[in-house]
Amino acid sequence: MNSWAEVAIPPLGGNFDIPQLSLRDTARNGIYPLPKKDVYRIYVCGITPYDATHLGHAATYLTFDLINRYLRLQGSEVKFVQNITDIDDPLLERATRDGIDWKELAKSQIDLFRGDMVNLHVIPPDHYVGVVEAMGLVVDAIHKLESENSTYFVDEDLYFSVRTDEKFGSRSHFSQEKMIEIFSERGGDPNRLGKRDPLDALLWLSHRDGEPSWSGPHQDGRPGWHIECCAIALNYLDLDSDSSTSIDIQGGGSDLIFPHHEMSAAQGAILQGREFASHYVHSGMIGLDGVKMSKSLGNLVFVSRLIASGVDPMAIRWALMESHFSVDRSWSQALLEDAQTWILRLRDALSMMEVAPTHSVISEIIKAQAENIDTPQSLQVIKNWVNDCHKGSSGGNAGELSRAIDAILGLAL
Ligand code: ZN
Repeated sequence: MNSWAEVAIPPLGGNFDIPQLSLRDTARNGIYPLPKKDVYRIYVCGITPYDATHLGHAATYLTFDLINRYLRLQGSEVKFVQNITDIDDPLLERATRDGIDWKELAKSQIDLFRGDMVNLHVIPPDHYVGVVEAMGLVVDAIHKLESENSTYFVDEDLYFSVRTDEKFGSRSHFSQEKMIEIFSERGGDPNRLGKRDPLDALLWLSHRDGEPSWSGPHQDGRPGWHIECCAIALNYLDLDSDSSTSIDIQGGGSDLIFPHHEMSAAQGAILQGREFASHYVHSGMIGLDGVKMSKSLGNLVFVSRLIASGVDPMAIRWALMESHFSVDRSWSQALLEDAQTWILRLRDALSMMEVAPTHSVISEIIKAQAENIDTPQSLQVIKNWVNDCHKGSSGGNAGELSRAIDAILGLAL
């Protein structure tokens, strides 16, 4: 699958101390530094392409873009892979509802997503991989799980036995009852007769009438949701055999903590004989005017529609950075208007003949980002600088700051 256009990252220039990045890890329930490495491996779960990119998606991909930018700032190489769940129940259900071919629906929404990512200046993944094109890898991974005695059949459908991973549940921290409840809400089938544990996850669904199917580990069908990410991450991230974990960061929205990331991590642990990721990083959910944004409530705000209505994509970036990535946040028209005002004020300040000192401002932004990507603090530092410029402070270099906020925060002004 084609990724999207490369984003130019200007060199920082100057002499800046770049502290080690610390990030919140869901599994350890705290903020921990990433070990210093020359190469980092990041896997971020992509969209299921049955609807356009809404602000919740934008917030997630912005989070990992900022992490990516910081690690590059450290001088490290970042290997970054993202998937597209281009075959799954929601996609087939939406295509059937709307009377269109599921492949056409997926293609149109993937195209829209790419356009949104380009507009938002999100660094593209090195590999952008659809499940359909990775089917061979998924089948290979399932065979390996079978050889580790981690699978069993219910009728002709193949399941992953979650308890074969002794650390199952340790990354998401929910009770068995809570896990069952969430599993049921998010595509799981805890009540299916014949399962050994209600939480065991579908690996391969045998062919159903009217559904597309592929050649499988034993019979035609299609894969379960969680095995795809595990198989794609382990095959496309060029793993480091010396590391204690397969990858450095598994990322996505906080709605993926359970079951999706717990399941993929458990499967990855069995496949590789080591912990899947060193950091499990999750971005908070986006609400609208204080209400959870969801398809069922019909209150999704789509990035493409905002941009088509004339909203500056950099104002969307700014507005999303006004709150910390890890907390649930609310979107509002007032937030967007405030962001648009600040983008204009910042552009205005950057075009002044004399600007307030910039070197210390850049240092403060770097420091804020190093501490768990503290974007509210970074934006506050910029606001203070803009205000100082308007008060007549001088001695700075506008070009230097402009390049730095482009490189670090992705704000190309
Ligand atoms: Zn995933």
